[in-house]
Amino acid sequence: MISVKDARALLFKLVSPLPSETVSLADSAGRCLAADVVATRDQPPFAASSMDGYAVKAAEVELHAMFKVVGEAAAGRRFQGTVGPGQAVRIFTGAPVPDGADFVVIQEDTDRRGDLLTIADEPGEKTNIRPAGADFKSGTKICAPKQLRPEDVALMAAMNIAEVPVARKPVVALISTGDELVMPGEIPGPDQIIASNTFGLKALLEKTGAHVRVLPIARDTQSSLETAFGLAEGADLVVTIGGASVGDYDLVSDVSSNLGMDRAFYKIRMRPGKPLMAGRLGQSAMVGLPGNPVSAMVCGYLFLVPMIRRMLGIQEVLQPFRTAKLAADISQNGPREHYMRAVLDYEGIRACDDQDSSLLSVLAQANALLVRPPDDPARSAGDEVQYLPI
Ligand code: AMP
Ligand code: MG
Repeated sequence: MISVKDARALLFKLVSPLPSETVSLADSAGRCLAADVVATRDQPPFAASSMDGYAVKAAEVELHAMFKVVGEAAAGRRFQGTVGPGQAVRIFTGAPVPDGADFVVIQEDTDRRGDLLTIADEPGEKTNIRPAGADFKSGTKICAPKQLRPEDVALMAAMNIAEVPVARKPVVALISTGDELVMPGEIPGPDQIIASNTFGLKALLEKTGAHVRVLPIARDTQSSLETAFGLAEGADLVVTIGGASVGDYDLVSDVSSNLGMDRAFYKIRMRPGKPLMAGRLGQSAMVGLPGNPVSAMVCGYLFLVPMIRRMLGIQEVLQPFRTAKLAADISQNGPREHYMRAVLDYEGIRACDDQDSSLLSVLAQANALLVRPPDDPARSAGDEVQYLPI
């Protein structure tokens, strides 16, 4: 058995960053930027009014000053002339500030009769003008690698970047194994249950940036598993769920070995999720997850998410553990690293009462995995502990 840290190091060696492809800006959210992109324009491209009001000369601005309104500047339609002494141009938010003007008196501070404009309230110091390039200048870069958030998409749009270079999505094939499993929506027999963690993992890995293929459930026979592995061909990562332990029907190890899996390790000194195997199988990396729903999901967070991040070219593949204060005492840990389902709120972090690795209802209530090192002594409320947000 190896530690979580060593297992992660070995898992990262099984995958490498994928080549890039180009997607349209509209499809780029959540993708990982594969090359720097550069603005080819300033934003705003001209000095622009930030308010509705009147563009005038700053030197002429004072309470009760009077101006003649000589034209209008709207967003998308500039005033063609120049603002002269004693003149004002009606201006709206986003419009280019006309030549000759360097101050916008906001509408609320003025009184207008026909073409005659009076500053009726103290206008203050603020010019209400956004200088050209105030947001970004031509040449401003968004640097790769970076997982693109909605905010980045908006910024790239403003930069007029319509085509975005991104890392190809890692393709993950998910194989559920077990005679007891049916797909959600099917009618289970009396001894059957629904394949659940399969769909939790699909959601988790897609959120991380992968493309996930859920394969038909493999039954607990050699031939059914072989068929499933055949269907998984071409995936960057093949993940089996269940059948990885030492029971009579746990065939993943044997079948993958027969197919030529080059195994990196088998068991991890952790709870939940001890029986986890990994290696290379043909052109794919392969990870055999334990079947218990919570174990599979926790291993997904700890091992699969970083593997996907590595394939996406993200440099910080490991999301760092955070610290929080315990809201309630916890007892001593055993010899295996423990990832306890826990709830973090304003009072601190609290381990859930029942840590059985089959309880999805407990996992669904949790928003953190409380990390307990091997043989960690009992800890009291107020002590600092580490956790991984989920
Ligand atoms: P196994 O590792 O195949 O012995 O499975 C351990 C436990 O996890 C058993 O109770 C299985 O029924 C359950 N299990 C295995 N795969 C899944 C799955 N995809 N969804 C829900 N439960 C599963
Ligand atoms: Mg099984």
